[in-house]
Amino acid sequence: MQHIIDRFISYVTIDTESDPNSETTPSTKKQWDLANKLVDELKAIGLSDVSIDENAYIMATLPSNVDHAVPTIGFISHFDTSPDFTGANIKPQIVKDYDGKDIILNATENIVLSPDYFEDLLMYKGQTLITTDGTTLLGADDKAGITEIVTAMEHLINHPEIKHGTIKVGFTPDEEIGRGAHKFDVEKFGADWAYTMDGSQVGELEYENFNAAGAKITVKGKIVHPGYAKGKMINSMYYASEFINSLPRTETPEHTEGYEGFFHLHNIEGDVEKTMLQYIIRDHDKDKFEARKALMQKIVDDLNTKYESEVFKLELKDQYFNMKEKVEPVMQIVDIAEAAMKAVGIAPLIKAIRGGTDGSQLSYMGLPCPNIFAGGHNFHGRYEYVPVESMQKAVEVIVKIAELTAVSSEQ
Ligand SMILES: [Zn+2]
Repeated sequence: MQHIIDRFISYVTIDTESDPNSETTPSTKKQWDLANKLVDELKAIGLSDVSIDENAYIMATLPSNVDHAVPTIGFISHFDTSPDFTGANIKPQIVKDYDGKDIILNATENIVLSPDYFEDLLMYKGQTLITTDGTTLLGADDKAGITEIVTAMEHLINHPEIKHGTIKVGFTPDEEIGRGAHKFDVEKFGADWAYTMDGSQVGELEYENFNAAGAKITVKGKIVHPGYAKGKMINSMYYASEFINSLPRTETPEHTEGYEGFFHLHNIEGDVEKTMLQYIIRDHDKDKFEARKALMQKIVDDLNTKYESEVFKLELKDQYFNMKEKVEPVMQIVDIAEAAMKAVGIAPLIKAIRGGTDGSQLSYMGLPCPNIFAGGHNFHGRYEYVPVESMQKAVEVIVKIAELTAVSSEQ
């Protein structure tokens, strides 16, 4: 257990926060600090073809140890941490044999990680938790994933009696700013399919995510002296509110869950002359997703007709799509992951992601890529924690997937 704790801590204590305002890849120079260390480590444990490109994408190979043909599979994680919360000077705290009570993260600032608020904690009674000191995030998202993949590869190298095909490892920068897959060379990676190790609770297995679009509505007004404005002024802010109220009020993030999609108004900027509304549109179902975009267009058209002028302008932009479309034709890749979990004593929790993943983008780039738990909770903030036992379980799942893929392709 100490081995995996030490490895995890050696990663999270290197600051790799990404930056959405940067144009470069990686978005921050400091991501190289961990990237270069990972390259050395992958070489040291004995992987082949360890490479890092000019954008800090890392790839490595564990060669097959069987004679028959086996599909090449990959495991992918990201080494950046979220810009939502600081990732500098992380001081991990180890809570051994967790007693199910409040954990004082920081006595001076009175920051407490409590099961009253975070009920998930109670699942991990008796386990070893790694938490923050209350002043930073932890970075289990997704350095837990990296820890698990490296540890699993090391395990396979040290246990040649476990049979497996060719396995590819991929570590990316900038996932947290939505660019983890952008410069991922799928062809060079050369896997038939892969898994991102980037989920939360033990057992999570995900191959469905939102279809996503962004919408910008510009409302054009007309400013006139308020004293002489009758019949002349167009106050864009009132018109904008008419648009807002034309959308179904309960199809919003705060009223939806599971497979329910939504419109999310996330920004308004305006004055009399011009108001801009920014929305994101989300739906798992492709048809409903298209219908949501069509509804926005219809409201804009109807309002323009009503006011007999082009007051409203809509710009729609697709952002990403549900990977289900790309994974369903190769459903055995989900079946193998599910079987692997069951084989190591985990009950699979298959559910749809209410968001996107690097895996969804990679799936559309030709690499079908479901997502598997990495074990952490409360990502992107000071309450983030990871049970060490969950990371160990993830290692077992990776090893078992490798084994089952080899066994299932045996003649
Ligand atoms: Zn992540």
